[in-house]
Amino acid sequence: MNSNAIEVQHLSKANKRLQDGFLHLPAMADQVDYSRVETIMKKLATRMQDNYPYHHAFYLGQMLKPPHPIARVAYQNAMLINPNNHALDGGRASSDLEKQVVVDIGKMLGLPQTLGHLTSGGTMANLEALWVAREETDGRCVLASEQAHYTHSRLTNVLGLSFDAVPADPKGRMCMRRLEKRLSKGDVGTVVVTMGTTALGAVDPLADVLALRAKYDFRVHVDAAYGGYFILDESLGSETRRHFDWVAHIDSISIDPHKHGLQPYGCGCILFSDPAVGRHYKHDSPYTYFSSTELHLGEISLECSRAGAAACALWATMQYFPLVLGGEFADRLTQSRAAAKRLKSFLLDDNRFRTPWNPELDIVVWMPKGTSARDISAKSAAIFERAAQRDVHLALCKVPKHLIVAADIPVSWDDDHITCLRACLMKPEHEEYFDAIADRLAAAFDDALETESLQGARHAS
Ligand SMILES: *Cc1c(COP(=O)(O)O)cnc(C)c1O
Repeated sequence: MNSNAIEVQHLSKANKRLQDGFLHLPAMADQVDYSRVETIMKKLATRMQDNYPYHHAFYLGQMLKPPHPIARVAYQNAMLINPNNHALDGGRASSDLEKQVVVDIGKMLGLPQTLGHLTSGGTMANLEALWVAREETDGRCVLASEQAHYTHSRLTNVLGLSFDAVPADPKGRMCMRRLEKRLSKGDVGTVVVTMGTTALGAVDPLADVLALRAKYDFRVHVDAAYGGYFILDESLGSETRRHFDWVAHIDSISIDPHKHGLQPYGCGCILFSDPAVGRHYKHDSPYTYFSSTELHLGEISLECSRAGAAACALWATMQYFPLVLGGEFADRLTQSRAAAKRLKSFLLDDNRFRTPWNPELDIVVWMPKGTSARDISAKSAAIFERAAQRDVHLALCKVPKHLIVAADIPVSWDDDHITCLRACLMKPEHEEYFDAIADRLAAAFDDALETESLQGARHAS
């Protein structure tokens, strides 16, 4: 946020350049009463102060981070035009930029050829993948891990498909034994493989799932909304790397530039490895597609109007940070993971906690020790509060009983889950600010666990 004044200067230069392209038109009077704009914007900016500080290194709660300044400048610059990437009529230049970024994301993933486009987010990307899967598999059943994003069961419901959850193994990844058992029933059309689960950041064993295709006939959709960019991170553990190395062999994949790709919201992406699936989208619009015989993105997308500005912002960001191994962008992901590993070892050194899961990506989940499931959940909630009071923002997540039992953690069970603490270290800056974060966390732990045990003692007496 501190460099905002410089950002505004760059925006104003870019705006001037864009407007230069339309100077041949007669000027039109601006009808805006800017004194009212000022009053309203003051109110709005004040209300917007009621947010967590997502941009700051101390925020390590949900999957939230601000876009890169170049994405912000590019998006706002495009707002002078407000292009619509449904058809070339609505966004000629920005549709072209979208086609280019989609090709480049496909290259990053190692896909030999692709058909794809940007979406409003991961949910829409997954919806399109599951819809195409339904058309390609005669509506056979969809499987995903119990730790997959909840939208898969909802979206299959929207599509009228049956859905089954495959239990997770102790690491929170899809259990291969249970998957094969379920596949052997013979009614499965599609397996959703999550690379970077929302809760634990676990990576389902893609290589092993693909190997099962020698025996069973099914499509593979990869939900890499969160984790997809980590294919560029050369610090991944060897097991995680083994699965990322197989991404080129999938049928479809969703990836969210608005999660790890430094974009404003409204930027997901769906890619199909067989361009022929484009036939399922075939439709005639009586209104559009007249200006050119070239591909209009609306001809291969379920959504009609889509922000061309999102394509501009992503294109500019990918010019700044090419998606290549060993590049600056890849480095940023490695730094995020380094911060996650540091947090994990900081917690390991503290005998008040258990950290049964290793951060495969940059998400760390841990739990305080306690007498019972509810006692542990209460302690997590107390730490969450005490950390927030010190401006360090964490998240909470419910982990089902069987995962904790499988991790060999002795708990007296008075609930069917435990609320654990969760940190998403999505910003490379967490690394630089780690000591300050750790100091504040240590104080929050002392405070929360001290108070808890005092209360416990009071109850006991
Ligand atoms: C965030 C996320 C989604 C949903 O994507 P949106 O962009 O929020 O619609 C789906 N799957 C996974 C694994 C995610 O992390």
